[in-house]
Amino acid sequence: MNLFILTKPKSLCQPCEEALDKLRGRRCQICSRKSDDRICADCTWWKEQASEEIIAFNYSVFSYNQLMQDMVARWKYRGDYHLGNAFKESFRNGFADAFSFLAKDAIAVPIPLSKERLMSRGFNQAQMLAGFLPIETKELITRVDGEKQSKKTRRDRIATKNPFELTIPVNKPAILVDDIYTTGTTLRHAANLLKAHGCPKIYAYTLIRG
Ligand SMILES: [Zn+2]
Ligand SMILES: [Zn+2]
Repeated sequence: MNLFILTKPKSLCQPCEEALDKLRGRRCQICSRKSDDRICADCTWWKEQASEEIIAFNYSVFSYNQLMQDMVARWKYRGDYHLGNAFKESFRNGFADAFSFLAKDAIAVPIPLSKERLMSRGFNQAQMLAGFLPIETKELITRVDGEKQSKKTRRDRIATKNPFELTIPVNKPAILVDDIYTTGTTLRHAANLLKAHGCPKIYAYTLIRG
């Protein structure tokens, strides 16, 4: 695996580009899962539960396969920060495809890591991805750390399972950015918080659809 072409830095080499599973063709218009239905069964279920979907839609660039799993392991868990740059071009192109209808004043909001994780990992992969985008990034959300959680009463903890706190409310459209969308639970928590404090419209943009 030769991840970079030296003459064209920061992009994937041809074999790796081809070995990654770029999402093309039909997908769910809400969660980006490969689907022949316009809206997949999961999202239809969610739509029936909630009167209003808190995230307008999630768009992802890749689906998860073996090479992606290896790359993410190296990038996130073994601290190979620069490997993230291999996603720059795809992430920017995907943004142009899916979000060009948005006004330029939309804000990219990376999903935060806990302080402990940030310390051990050295960087937040969601923040790195947000930094690739041609719009402003604002770290509006923090993760409630373990200490604060434990000061709460048991009932408080059960009532407030949202792991995030909002530092600054925002009245512009926000695009939550993360590396992977799996169930969407994390992103919904973050979106709920933004929405409750006046954010008019929330989207999600993720590198990988798990
Ligand atoms: Zn390669
Ligand atoms: Zn869906």
